[in-house]
Amino acid sequence: MTEKITQKIENVIQSIDEILEKIKNCSEDFNSNSEIFSTLADLSPAGIYLYQDRKFVYINKATERISGYSIDELKKMEPMNLLHPDDYKTVEKIIERRERGEKLEAHHYLRIKHKNGEYRDLYVVSNTVTYKGRPAGIGIALDITEQKDLQKKLAYLSSHDELTGLYNRNFLLEELKELIKLARSNHYSLAFLHIDINKFKEIINLYGHATGDYILKITGQQLKKLLKEDDVIGRLSGDEFGVIIPKLEKIEAVSKITEKIISSIEKPITLKDKEISLTASIGITIYPYDGKTAEDLIKNAEIAMNHAKNISNKENKSKYMFFSYKLGKQIEEKIKLKELLKTALEKNKDEFILYYQPIVNLQTGKLKGFEALVRWENKKFGTLPSEKFIQIAEETGEIINLGKLIIEKAINHIQIWKEKGFDDFKITINISSEQLKSEDFIKFIEETTKNLPQKDRVTLEITESILIQNVEKTRKILNKLKDLGFSIAIDDFGTGYSSLNYLKEFPFDFLKIDKSFLSDILNNKKTKAIVLSIIELSHNLQSKAVIEGIETEEQAKLLKDLNCDYGQGYYFSKPLLFNKVENLLKNPYFQI
Ligand code: C2E
Ligand code: CA
Ligand code: CA
Repeated sequence: MTEKITQKIENVIQSIDEILEKIKNCSEDFNSNSEIFSTLADLSPAGIYLYQDRKFVYINKATERISGYSIDELKKMEPMNLLHPDDYKTVEKIIERRERGEKLEAHHYLRIKHKNGEYRDLYVVSNTVTYKGRPAGIGIALDITEQKDLQKKLAYLSSHDELTGLYNRNFLLEELKELIKLARSNHYSLAFLHIDINKFKEIINLYGHATGDYILKITGQQLKKLLKEDDVIGRLSGDEFGVIIPKLEKIEAVSKITEKIISSIEKPITLKDKEISLTASIGITIYPYDGKTAEDLIKNAEIAMNHAKNISNKENKSKYMFFSYKLGKQIEEKIKLKELLKTALEKNKDEFILYYQPIVNLQTGKLKGFEALVRWENKKFGTLPSEKFIQIAEETGEIINLGKLIIEKAINHIQIWKEKGFDDFKITINISSEQLKSEDFIKFIEETTKNLPQKDRVTLEITESILIQNVEKTRKILNKLKDLGFSIAIDDFGTGYSSLNYLKEFPFDFLKIDKSFLSDILNNKKTKAIVLSIIELSHNLQSKAVIEGIETEEQAKLLKDLNCDYGQGYYFSKPLLFNKVENLLKNPYFQI
């Protein structure tokens, strides 16, 4: 059908070209000499005009129909005022060139405002002629508004599902292909959801097809309303919908969206004399894990949907499943952890326990202090290492409260040790980015440590990556902390973000070399050279070098030889419970 319209337009254009040719051959005195022409022109369904000094000199009858204005009105007005603002520049350029006498044949589309306020689409062919000894524009304008509308309608019909007004399966597939390309080049994940309404056949048997259609329409509309603008929804077939979530910041966000979709589908729909509630089975695939192509993602989502449907049928309620069982489990676990973390921080603060790992002076073997490392002893999951929940706490913002709790506990321990006469060692506390930048951090730490005379017994460890995030703000905070008397250590140094330039911006007392360097320091000369350089860099910047993750005697000896100031690692001791620290304080020496 589109081809037919294009063909039609081409035919008209051809006849316009012929008319133009005839006009060109007309004599100079346009109005008097060409009765034949003006009769012909008035018969033309296309608008014909002669334009000079920014006014129409001649216009045919058809222009009245096209513009809604009479010939007299048109002759009096400034024709440029009829143009759509977006087309103004193009036309202005053509006119200017003509006014300079340039011979210019132009073919272009433009829009003019009809007297009734609506815009009409025109196809215009024009050229320069000489009229009364000066250049003028002559042209033919064809109203193609209907064809354009039809084209739009056709494009709509070929990409949309008539019943629901959502995209159809083909279009959804094409969109998915495009969005996968985007996700691939930007390195983010994408989700595809296959949504199937449960027992839809039974509904049709009970209530008939018209009701079935009505339910699909309502469901489709509600889903569309619920999704974000960038999300894409379509009807795959019958009672099946597909949703693309094109950019996933966090994979577990899919669960949230899916749960919202389920509650939307379960919302009762009112029919004439009753309400009906639906349930759904949903299968989810994540690019790139569950398929690299659109076809695979769709196919696998359907497989996952069928698994969900089996369970859904048994349990008689909505169910969603990830194609990849492992991924699904991980996501489920993370969501559970998030909830548990929140409750634990509100109600069971005792579940968070500080362990202390010794930091040793590598030159003398004397204990320097401890790094406080948090563990979570949860009834359900057992003892969780910090890497299992710190990141979650950071994502949810819970790190602020958790961080406060850790500082309070550590300071409390310092007081207890002090009362027992142990007060010549340092305690290092890790501070997360959000925590450091939270509004009341400085006030909080000042308040919590107000009974601690030597503030430099506390070292605040911040990771290298924090430094580059907001240089100005971070510098202010760190300077303030230094002024208050705390020591600062830069943690995980050398793990990728380092721009040496930043180092001169911040005050710090320790540079903590990441444990990853230790893995091959004994047999890789380059690693050894890098570590030595970092140690020297640290000394040249008037700070001390600390290395973490020493596991063997050989490593400890080498680092001592490289002149590294302090070391930490399983070779000396694993992180210890509070009540195990005292033994060490009584005999604070290690063999190197
Ligand atoms: P980190 O600050 O780099 O902490 C050092 C990690 O290396 C600790 O893991 C420690 O147990 C481990 N480690 C120590 N010696 C060795 C060794 O010889 N070999 C090996 N392979 N590992 C060793 P942990 O306790 O699981 O902590 C992991 C990360 O979690 C920490 O990395 C830190 O970024 C974060 N974290 C731990 N506690 C806290 C805390 O209280 N607050 C904040 N904000 N983050 C914390
Ligand atoms: Ca640390
Ligand atoms: Ca570290």
